[in-house]
Amino acid sequence: MSFSSLGLSAPLVRAVAERNYTTATPIQAAAIPAVLRGGDVWASAQTGSGKTAAFALPILQRLSGVQRERGRFVRALILVPTRELAAQIGDAFRDYGRYLPEPALKTLVVYGGVSINPQMMALGGGADILVATPGRLLDLIAHNALSLSAVATLVLDEADRLFALGFADELARVLALLPARRQTLFFSATFPPAVWALAESLLHEPTRIEMPAAPADTPDIVQRAIEVDAPQRTQLLRNLIEFHAWTRVLVFVATKYATEHVAEKLRRAGLDAAALHG
Ligand code: AMP
Repeated sequence: MSFSSLGLSAPLVRAVAERNYTTATPIQAAAIPAVLRGGDVWASAQTGSGKTAAFALPILQRLSGVQRERGRFVRALILVPTRELAAQIGDAFRDYGRYLPEPALKTLVVYGGVSINPQMMALGGGADILVATPGRLLDLIAHNALSLSAVATLVLDEADRLFALGFADELARVLALLPARRQTLFFSATFPPAVWALAESLLHEPTRIEMPAAPADTPDIVQRAIEVDAPQRTQLLRNLIEFHAWTRVLVFVATKYATEHVAEKLRRAGLDAAALHG
């Protein structure tokens, strides 16, 4: 399906065409019209499905041409678990929005682990689109750097990872600061019970989008557990490698010391092994 047939404006279609997106991915085909209509979305989607453009393009279209209020307001809030994802999504918004008519939409990215001051300065005058990790967002709110009272669209991206990384409490605190009347777009690769419950509580008559996992996501892997006495583990590993003539093997161990120890033992057995740790 083409992007223009999904109801996207010419400047957005031009930006994606220049990135050589010829057709919309299934999640884009399903989500874009739903987001443009202003509805909620419940999507089970993996990384690589094209989910970023599925929410970024229609959000840009809805914000474009409508000026934001003066003050430290944010119109679209994208909550993500990691700084890498935040930066990537910020880049995508800027890239897809580059041909939209003036005034240009302001996209900001904030995350922890770096100085808060430049982020506070940048938030002066608010932002149209704010991509944030929950902890730093709360810090900025505590510093009065922004208000969430005018958020019209909330995106939770990789919601399962937000939980897995221990952001449940921060997430709840952020959600309590948002206006009740808003559009919510919920993206997650998996739906363990806590994530499911959150989606149920946040979404109002959502468009449900379920993407079957691509074959690449479910490789043909056989898992096997072998019970072995601890002192024999490396010997067993060595025998397995030699017996099966495995040529590329990734071995996970519990400690930094063990990486060195196991690699050294394998090297002494004549295997070409290297250790890798943080
Ligand atoms: P995402 O799932 O959002 O992380 O996107 C995965 C990758 O697919 C990114 O590199 C996008 O630039 C790319 N992509 C997204 N939508 C399309 C599309 N319709 N056609 C081709 N590539 C795309």
